[in-house]
Amino acid sequence: MAARHGSDANRQHEQDVETRLIAARAACGGSIVFTTSLGLEDQVLTHVIARLGLAREILFATLDTGRLFPEVYDLWALTEERYGIAIAGYAPEAGEIEQLVLEQGINGFRNSTDARKRCCAVRKLAPLDRALRGATGWITGLRADQSQARADTSFMQQDAERGLLKISPLHDWSRDQALDFARRHDVPLNPLHERGFVSIGCAPCTRAIAPGEPERAGRWWWEQDAAKECGLHVGSDGRLVRAAAAEVSP
Ligand code: SF4
Repeated sequence: MAARHGSDANRQHEQDVETRLIAARAACGGSIVFTTSLGLEDQVLTHVIARLGLAREILFATLDTGRLFPEVYDLWALTEERYGIAIAGYAPEAGEIEQLVLEQGINGFRNSTDARKRCCAVRKLAPLDRALRGATGWITGLRADQSQARADTSFMQQDAERGLLKISPLHDWSRDQALDFARRHDVPLNPLHERGFVSIGCAPCTRAIAPGEPERAGRWWWEQDAAKECGLHVGSDGRLVRAAAAEVSP
């Protein structure tokens, strides 16, 4: 009986996500961009967006930092093929990368937190700015229970800094619920997840985690005391990047 309740609850979560995506589409008058890292949660959202027939109304974008795992590129191609979509890749400017590498070396991000943040700014934040230019809505795969820094994530939040609605349809999902969804719907996943890579970013800055470790412990693991964030969603104060939250039902 408990299993039945569990699967009923998961089905309700699926319906909630569909309803949220439709509501998000209606709430954003202009273009909506979904930034996917091809991770578990983003693959779930890609599946739901495609199933709802919203793939023509929502732009898929990924940040191609130049340091991603080969498995990410393979999954990128597979996902496009499976869902009949195009995922636009946003890469850093060549001149900025050349300057960065000249200044700090090819793996200079290990030298200090500031050096790491500078690398993330060039390889991730600048491409994200371009991906979101002109958008009125930004869909993310954030979950509130991924980390303390993400605990305030809700469905729709006004991102005053970027002047758009930030939409996190999986904000109240657990990782197990996302995994269960992916298995039941045969969603293509990064094979690294099976090898302990829970949160997957750039290859040199991601390691597998041990059972019981926090989900984001494998990101920038040498920075013991720092928030495991690159600045896409959480500011330098360790809080979500936003000015005001507007919870929208459901
Ligand atoms: S995750 Fe690592 S390699 Fe990727 S942009 Fe940040 S510091 Fe650079």
